[in-house]
Amino acid sequence: LAVIELRSKQTSSFATYRSDVQARAIRRARLRQDLERAEQEGQFELFYQPQVDLASGRVVGAEALMRWHHPTQGLLAPGDFLARLEQMSQARRVDTWVLETAASQAAAWNGPKPGVRVAINIFPDRLGDRLVADVERVLGEHGLAPEALEIEIPERHALDDIDSAARTVKSLRRLGVSVALDDFGTGFASLTAISALDVNRLKIDRSFVADMLSNGKSVAIISTLIELGRRIDLSILAEGIETAEQRDVLQAFGCNEGQGYLFGKPMPPEQLWPVCAAMRRAG
Ligand code: C2E
Ligand code: MG
Ligand code: MG
Ligand code: MG
Repeated sequence: LAVIELRSKQTSSFATYRSDVQARAIRRARLRQDLERAEQEGQFELFYQPQVDLASGRVVGAEALMRWHHPTQGLLAPGDFLARLEQMSQARRVDTWVLETAASQAAAWNGPKPGVRVAINIFPDRLGDRLVADVERVLGEHGLAPEALEIEIPERHALDDIDSAARTVKSLRRLGVSVALDDFGTGFASLTAISALDVNRLKIDRSFVADMLSNGKSVAIISTLIELGRRIDLSILAEGIETAEQRDVLQAFGCNEGQGYLFGKPMPPEQLWPVCAAMRRAG
């Protein structure tokens, strides 16, 4: 009897396992189908998260972050779909859509004298001459001042091919567009690499900010990263600031800009303006 019971348990757990695997495979296939249509059907939207000058409290920039209005699952963040999208042939088109949408938003927010730069994220395989040409084209099409646009390159992707990344950074900066090294501190960039890349800004990854007040090592790392950046004349932005205490400590370390829930979550563009105005009033 014991043997029979064991057998039937194994069979049923195998059946559950198999249906789990099938369910996951079906979900993946469906996600793929849904993604194939998403761009054409206008289901993607860019949200914007304020970037603040810590000394004055003024909004100096906004990062464009992709959201997907999924027909049945509601609003999805990049964590739910970006890795899959990146592997699809649609990625190129979506990337271009991000650039064009953000540029037209930046043009709407900035007159001839830019006040709020708009930062965009790009897919890793985008680094190269095509990106530079596309950026130049959208600047022209929207009559956008180049200072109003920033390109974020994650540290780990810049490190894949440092020479090609450095060439892209140089070409973008020649256009007058600024470049930030995103998720800085997570990719093990050497000092040589950082100096070769020659970006405008380092964005310190939010994992360091998250536990800087409870973990002595994180404080040491974060203050060193800031000091390093300042020494070579880079602007330093800390990501993921959620409390006033984190902001104050970062500012005391010499960090000049911040981004995080303390200042505002990613939001639709029409909501960002009132937030900017309110922050200005509050000083
Ligand atoms: P990222 O570029 O490092 O963007 C910052 C992420 O941190 C965003 O997540 C933002 O919502 C989140 N965040 C900001 N402040 C806080 C905070 O105070 N606390 C916490 N817990 N989180 C905070 P999101 O929007 O889910 O985006 C995730 C990643 O997806 C981005 O990381 C970026 O790498 C990528 N991504 C987003 N939009 C695009 C896009 O248009 N194109 C490409 N290629 N990648 C994108
Ligand atoms: Mg980013
Ligand atoms: Mg980041
Ligand atoms: Mg990050």
